[in-house]
Amino acid sequence: MAIGMDKRMSKKPTKKATKTSRISGFHALDRLDRLDAVAAFSGLNNKTRNQFRNTGNLPEDLTGRLIENVIGTMNVPVGIATNMIVDGEEVLVPMATEESSVVAAVCNAARQCRNTGGITASTSGAHMIAQIQLVDVSDPQAARLKILERKSEISAICDEADPILIGLGGGFRDLEVRVLETQGGPMVITHLIVDTRDAMGANAVNTMAERLAPHIARWTNGTTYLRILSNLADRRLARARAVWKPSAIAVKGISGKKVRDGMMAAYHFAAADPWRATTHNKGIMNGISAVTLATGNDTRAIEAGAHAFAAISGQYSPLTRWEVDKDGNLVGTLEMPLALGIIGGATKAHPTARACLEIMGVETAEKLQRITAAVGLCQNFAALKALATVGVQKGHMALHAQNIALMAGAKGAEIDQIALKMTQKGSVRLDVAESELKLLRSKKI
Ligand code: NAD
Repeated sequence: MAIGMDKRMSKKPTKKATKTSRISGFHALDRLDRLDAVAAFSGLNNKTRNQFRNTGNLPEDLTGRLIENVIGTMNVPVGIATNMIVDGEEVLVPMATEESSVVAAVCNAARQCRNTGGITASTSGAHMIAQIQLVDVSDPQAARLKILERKSEISAICDEADPILIGLGGGFRDLEVRVLETQGGPMVITHLIVDTRDAMGANAVNTMAERLAPHIARWTNGTTYLRILSNLADRRLARARAVWKPSAIAVKGISGKKVRDGMMAAYHFAAADPWRATTHNKGIMNGISAVTLATGNDTRAIEAGAHAFAAISGQYSPLTRWEVDKDGNLVGTLEMPLALGIIGGATKAHPTARACLEIMGVETAEKLQRITAAVGLCQNFAALKALATVGVQKGHMALHAQNIALMAGAKGAEIDQIALKMTQKGSVRLDVAESELKLLRSKKI
């Protein structure tokens, strides 16, 4: 139902006596009618309601095609990481994030390894895993072999499900079957290994698993339940390495060698301690998730895969490794699953995601994986360096002070003035911002 503006404006949001979240037919309403319903439910004033009116750089008709029950969009800044050289190519990398210092950190790290050629990256291929769960089999070992015996039939069933993928050189690659002992008895778990080329591949492999499951049930006289990809994409690894010379990483008052040794100590801490490793990896994901989001990829899939991979040895560990080479240079490497696509999901549909790919000159998922891994490595370098020297707060402070000034109610030029006053005082706090703002405004009168 296309509903006219006048009609909508005349409808006053009325607060019902009994508040209920059971809103029948909510999904079928127009976006702005849904917004009215939410405004009525939550008692939003017009200013708050209007916060959702404009869908920014996402066309309104697309919002409802991406997800359900849309009322608006949530815009996040896109910044550009400069100075990056990836596999000999100069690249600018768009990063979508709400966190200050993340983009600047990558720029700094990338600048400091330009004199050694930047970052070298590679990938293990674009293989995704789909899992099919089989239960209720009294002879699971025999069932396992029955499935393995059908490999060529399975290959054909999978490939028939996605002729486009086959036409592009992708499709079924391999089969693995395990008997898994569980609390509910033995289960037979089939892994389909599928080359999904430039797609992340969730829908592609899920379709194959769903098509194949009834056959598996029939061949084994069992029952199949789950048929879905694994986000532990350990057949789709991205790798990055770079070298930083001590002379390039010195900071005011601290020699490059001392910085390097502090960074090594920070890495050794993370490698031995999961509490530290979690924050170490969070820093890496600051970069990885920002590129993932900017390109319309699935941040949750990437994050789940990253953390599962970090724990694959049984101890949650850093996704990067740091060493000192024979010349005393700091050498960083990163290896992690990166199931990124440039086709499918929002990657193709979202115009900003497409624009971000264009900025990077990305025409294959493989290149996107390499660039993203390079960003993750740089992000980790910058965090370790800051932590081993001046701490992270110094870098955070300028933008943080502006945020605090905004929270205190500063507007326009006042924001910078209040932020500066607080950093000069060495006291970036809301109460300080409020009193400085009061003082500033009293002087103006
Ligand atoms: P998709 O199904 O939208 O597109 C992939 C299809 O595009 C392929 O199957 C193929 O037929 C076609 N295609 C055209 N050109 C191609 C090329 N160059 N390379 C490869 N395929 C090409 O997308 P998808 O990647 O299968 O699924 C991604 C979406 O699935 C994401 O939105 C993700 O959020 C969502 N999803 C994720 C999970 C999960 O991670 N657990 C589960 C379900 C869905």
